[in-house]
Amino acid sequence: MTDCIFCKIINREIPSYTVYEDEDVYAFLDITQTTKGHTLVIPKQHVADIFEYDEKLAATLFSKVPKIARALEKSFPDMEGLNLINNNKELAYQSVFHSHIHLIPRYSKEDDFS
Ligand code: 5GP
Ligand code: ZN
Repeated sequence: MTDCIFCKIINREIPSYTVYEDEDVYAFLDITQTTKGHTLVIPKQHVADIFEYDEKLAATLFSKVPKIARALEKSFPDMEGLNLINNNKELAYQSVFHSHIHLIPRYSKEDDFS
C-alpha cells in the first residue's frame, strides 16, 4: 500500500531500527519508546487490522512473537515483564492502519514511563 507508513518502513523508504525480520514478519522499535525496547511486530502483507487476517496470516505473525519476546529479554536483561497490545480501529486507539502488535517491556526499577 503506497501511502502506508509501515509499508514504507518494510520497504526501507522510511528508516527504522530492526529487531527481527523474516520473509513474512518485520519487528522494529516504536518511535515512541513507551518503555525501553518498545517494539512493533507487523505482517509484511498489508492488513489494516485484526478483522482482515485469515488463519494462516494470524498463525504466521503470532508464531514469531515468542522468539521476538526472548530477543528483547536477551537485549534488556533488566526487563521483568512484557505487555502485548493490539489496537483495532480508531475508537480502540489504533493510529496506524497497518496492523501491529506492541511488545512493551516492563521494568521494576527504571525506564518505565507509562
Ligand atoms: P497504534 O496507536 O496504532 O496502536 O500504534 C502506532 C504506533 O506506531 C505508535 O506507538 C507510534 O509511536 C508508532 N509509529 C508511528 N509512526 C512511526 C514511525 O514512523 N516509525 C516508528 N518506528 N514507529 C512509528
Ligand atoms: Zn501497510
